[in-house]
Amino acid sequence: MAVDLNKLHLRAPWQDLTTGMMIHAGGTSVEFHTGEWTAVKPSIDQDKCKKCGRCHMVCPDSAIVVRVVDNARMEGPGCGKTALDRMYQVDTDHCKGCGICAYNCPFDAIEMEGM
Ligand code: SF4
Ligand code: SF4
Repeated sequence: MAVDLNKLHLRAPWQDLTTGMMIHAGGTSVEFHTGEWTAVKPSIDQDKCKKCGRCHMVCPDSAIVVRVVDNARMEGPGCGKTALDRMYQVDTDHCKGCGICAYNCPFDAIEMEGM
């Protein structure tokens, strides 16, 4: 029997499991908080972060998310004005603590906590 995996949850009886645990719907990984598998988490030092985006690109779990923030400070010509900016943050619900982001950050802005 094959069912939509979206309907599965911790109390699902075995009869509702998909054959071979096949996935029958897209985007279902959001429902599974694989970040619970580890106690080690990366921490991004926003003062050191140069927003190069490398951590976002190398994370195998898409657990580095980009947030648009308002009122970013601008320097140089036009100083005092504000603009939209971006900030890289860790999605702790889905980060598995592999450390690839910290290893690849060229500015040492990511530290693994809990090691
Ligand atoms: S790799 Fe480092 S400097 Fe680049 S966006 Fe990520 S935390 Fe910031
Ligand atoms: S530790 Fe691994 S899973 Fe977590 S954000 Fe960094 S690269 Fe992604």
